[in-house]
Amino acid sequence: MQKLVTFKEYTAVTPTAPISRNQHGFRAKCLQRLIRMGLPVPRTVALSFETVQAIAGGRMPDVARLLAGFGAAPLVSVRSSSQDPAWGGPNAVLNIGMNDARYAEFCETLGETAASALYLRFIQTYAVRAAHLDAALFDPGEEEGHAAVAAALRAYEAETESHFPQDPEEQLAGVLRSMARAWQSTSTRLLRQARGAPADAGLGLVVQEMALGVGAVESGAGIIQFIDPVSGKPQITGRYMSQSQGRDAVTQRERALFLTRDSRGASLEELCPDLFDELIAHGEACRSRLRDEMQLEFTIAAGRLAIIDAVIVPRSARASVQVVVALAQDDVITRSEALLRVPPRALNEVLHPQIDPATPRTRIVRGIAASPGAAAGKLVFSSTVAQAMAAQDEPCILVKRETSPEDVRGMHAARGVLTERGGITSHAAVIARGLGVPCVVGASELSIDKKARVMRTASGQVLREGDLVTIDGTSGEILAGVVPMLEPALDEAFETFLGWADEVRDIGIRVNADTPEDAQLASRFAAEGIGLCRTEHMFFAEDRLTAMRELIFADLPEDRADALAQLLPMQRADFTQIFRIMAGKPVCIRLFDPPLHEFLPHDRQGTLDLAEALNRPFSDVQRRIDSLREYNPMLGMRGVRLGLTVPEIYDMQARAIFEAALDASAGGDKPVVPEIMIPLVSACREVEIVTTRIEAVAHAVQAERGETLTYRIGVMVETPRAALRAADIVRFCHFLSFGTNDLTQMTYGLSRDDAGRFMASYVRQGVFPEDPFHTLDREGVGELLVLGAERGRKVRPDVVLSICGEHGGNSESIAFCRDAGFDYVSCSPYRVPLARLAAAQIAL
Ligand code: PEP
Ligand code: MG
Repeated sequence: MQKLVTFKEYTAVTPTAPISRNQHGFRAKCLQRLIRMGLPVPRTVALSFETVQAIAGGRMPDVARLLAGFGAAPLVSVRSSSQDPAWGGPNAVLNIGMNDARYAEFCETLGETAASALYLRFIQTYAVRAAHLDAALFDPGEEEGHAAVAAALRAYEAETESHFPQDPEEQLAGVLRSMARAWQSTSTRLLRQARGAPADAGLGLVVQEMALGVGAVESGAGIIQFIDPVSGKPQITGRYMSQSQGRDAVTQRERALFLTRDSRGASLEELCPDLFDELIAHGEACRSRLRDEMQLEFTIAAGRLAIIDAVIVPRSARASVQVVVALAQDDVITRSEALLRVPPRALNEVLHPQIDPATPRTRIVRGIAASPGAAAGKLVFSSTVAQAMAAQDEPCILVKRETSPEDVRGMHAARGVLTERGGITSHAAVIARGLGVPCVVGASELSIDKKARVMRTASGQVLREGDLVTIDGTSGEILAGVVPMLEPALDEAFETFLGWADEVRDIGIRVNADTPEDAQLASRFAAEGIGLCRTEHMFFAEDRLTAMRELIFADLPEDRADALAQLLPMQRADFTQIFRIMAGKPVCIRLFDPPLHEFLPHDRQGTLDLAEALNRPFSDVQRRIDSLREYNPMLGMRGVRLGLTVPEIYDMQARAIFEAALDASAGGDKPVVPEIMIPLVSACREVEIVTTRIEAVAHAVQAERGETLTYRIGVMVETPRAALRAADIVRFCHFLSFGTNDLTQMTYGLSRDDAGRFMASYVRQGVFPEDPFHTLDREGVGELLVLGAERGRKVRPDVVLSICGEHGGNSESIAFCRDAGFDYVSCSPYRVPLARLAAAQIAL
């Protein structure tokens, strides 16, 4: 004999019943709200998580008593009700209570077709879900009416060697048991955990009286929502189908009616104008009382409307922004609530084209999602080809083992970038994010043959130059062919929404912008200034690269001066433009950082071309390239070390910055106050020497121009020693900006360009909770940030503190920096809106 559960087994859903989302799930709670609002919801009973768990364990509640509440001849449905709709749950089961006797009765009252549809649906669902029989056995084929019902009953008997259960209690118990157990199966558990559900997430069930949807007087079922789920704009969408139940109107769209009169065909509005008006009124009431855009599932039973279910409309990120702004503007929710309802990550989807979620995906390879958005194009294996394709307006996806500064132009020309190696802060990833180009890195199952211009996947698939693919930098996938996409829209709602975020946040958001184009983008995203301008990126354009190479090859000081004289006006022009675009907002320019060899060719052909351009013997050029090669360039002669070794470079840059500041200030009411930042500092003497030289340049420019300059000098804290010695360093500068890319690399002793190879495995094994180049390591790197900030502040209380590594745009890092009293964070242009929202949410 089955044991009965002893606790409260079920609760009739009434306006005052003790129903809670934490015990009965979202659906039960939502239905109670609809009932409180006076909506025509059929009688509903809720089974709590505890009851359903007991059912799965073999303890059935008193179903006889439960069913007694539904009258002498009960006919009910069961729906799942987990705590969060995103966690899913078993599908609804309708028409429990249908048996031979009800069938005969319905044949009389509703007609054979309608009665058969009701019974057949239940037999099929019960057989498959509760008795676990093969669905194919219950396909009615050509048969209809009595014949179809008889065939289904025969099939059930043949398979189970027993009659189809006729007792509604037995039927309900079977359905409840199967749904409770389905929730506990391994595959559904893994699926919901992937959607964020905890391991012990419970399932509630809702038993509801059927509103039939079939019969002689107008009957049917449908779904209505009041927004377009993609744009979020007000629009009545959905379908209604006469003589149908549940979601038939959606699954059999072609046979269903539209809802509104102005649609392309027959509509519910014309068929039942009064019920349509009633439905609209319910929709409006739901929006204001449930404080969201709801999708209603309704039934028309013998000419009367019943609302059987309501869920929050599933929607795109763009629609989420549109909806919360409209709700706040209509005073349905507060602005704070609007801000808190959109996860910052979701804005990625708004800022970049995205693959249409309705499209099926054929994945070729997966890597690390390094720069969001999607793009389609032909595969190319070199930057030169990418540029050539761009010149012909031919979209392409650049594939490289890894990228180097030489590839920046190719990356700019490509619609997307895929690399075999590298992690979230590899060259490809950083540049792609800066450019807003979708990028996937560390696709380690790929093997690329650059010469043959093919790539092979682990499964043996071969793709050649010219093959069409779609890159999804949001999911980290490469898909076959051209996949349909949704375009980005920075519409009015988006601007309004972020404007509200700016009103509440209390930490500054600047942008990492290297070129005038970046600065333009930064202005579009309303960054408060530039927190990091990596000046070396300006040298990769064709004409500049040559001048840069001449500088590297100059043997004599006068030759060096010549090359610098070529570079000076180019830098000055860039800076002037950037200052003008930023229109008085602060601009922080970092002096030259990378090792020089990054500007030199990496293959024989490149070296030959360079020898020709410089008019020097090949062997000479090769020797110079070899002499610049370092065993560990990221820890070698770069940053301030290069600045001290070849001081003319920093002198030239300082002059370009000062002259540009004066040029850009001319005619304006407020002078430009440039910020100059020294990279890779590890000793305070480095700062002292560079500062002295910069001051000398400032004096010279002021004397030549007869004008005064105001400027600030800062240090990039990106070596552990700089953080530890912040108290000394800060004596020579106005601000400290933590470069957490290098600081993470050096704190862990982990190469930022090679970590991609094993990062996934490290995270999987729980060695690192997450990729520290992606999520700030609060315990280690974070401690250095706090230490550096405290030590710096102690000596110079007004020192401006910031972070400018890739972590700058991430919610957790922003919260961390805010707690540590930082003044601002700086991040890639496309992350600025996310950071603005995240900072607002943290402040709320
Ligand atoms: C850093 O190291 O965090 C940084 C911002 O500089 P880069 O990435 O250019 O080395
Ligand atoms: Mg750095």
